[in-house]
Amino acid sequence: MGGPCLPAAGAGGLPPPVPSIAVSATPVALGVEHVHAGYDRLEVLHDVGLEVGERQIVVLLGANGAGKTTLLRAVAGVLRPRQGVIRLFGQPIQGWPAHEVTRAGVGHVPSGRELFPNLSVADNLALGGRVARPERRSPLLEQVLELFPALRARMRQRAGSLSGGEQQMLAIGRALMTDPRLLLLDEPSTGLAPKVVLVLFDVLRRLQSEGLTILLVEQNARLSLRVADHAYVIDNGRIVLSGTGEQLSDDRRVVEAYLGLR
Ligand code: ATP
Repeated sequence: MGGPCLPAAGAGGLPPPVPSIAVSATPVALGVEHVHAGYDRLEVLHDVGLEVGERQIVVLLGANGAGKTTLLRAVAGVLRPRQGVIRLFGQPIQGWPAHEVTRAGVGHVPSGRELFPNLSVADNLALGGRVARPERRSPLLEQVLELFPALRARMRQRAGSLSGGEQQMLAIGRALMTDPRLLLLDEPSTGLAPKVVLVLFDVLRRLQSEGLTILLVEQNARLSLRVADHAYVIDNGRIVLSGTGEQLSDDRRVVEAYLGLR
């Protein structure tokens, strides 16, 4: 990654749509090429392209309804793209069912977490672990409980009785139990106390340092750009801006749209 910010055209607000694929010096973990996707007659994503380099944290910013969740769902196999290619470590996976995408190494933490509230913490984690090779389950569980010690004390508790922060930890823990190489996170900080959000971002950095690749959709632009190796802005279903976290933090259009005037 490390390509320059895409050029802006037009004054004020976000620039007009430009399909973008950043120039990458890092091996590509996830490549999204010319993807179109939507629901029934509504096309949400138009010719979307992005790359996530191995062991990078890549952030996707965008206003409500821009298509961020739709893009993650297309990558995770929850939604079949209408056109385009999605490569995971070089292998085309577009159109694969979600369980096969998970087996191929994509962990998905959906917005709203989608836990089983009446099952225990242990059972929610075990459900994620069913995807992993049997000999990996025990070390994965240990890794998750080490990352999120709060869960260790609550293994027998109903997932629905956990605090919001603990539920988010459980949702991430469940995805980690699938033994992913790429983790997709959809607005994990939503509704969480600032202190918990900081813990969460520390965990993401730690996971990255342990070799995981992360594609993060976030409303918290300030914090997410701080951890981002690379970031994209999506507007009305098109990638309109791309650069390093630092470049986008300094970009006037990003500052105005997402960071507030300084
Ligand atoms: P938010 O931050 O609000 O979640 P987003 O960028 O993630 O926004 P999406 O959830 O991808 O945006 O939604 C993009 C568009 O697709 C919106 O117009 C939304 O109303 C529409 N949409 C999302 N899910 C569905 C669905 N299941 N059926 C029909 N339309 C949908």
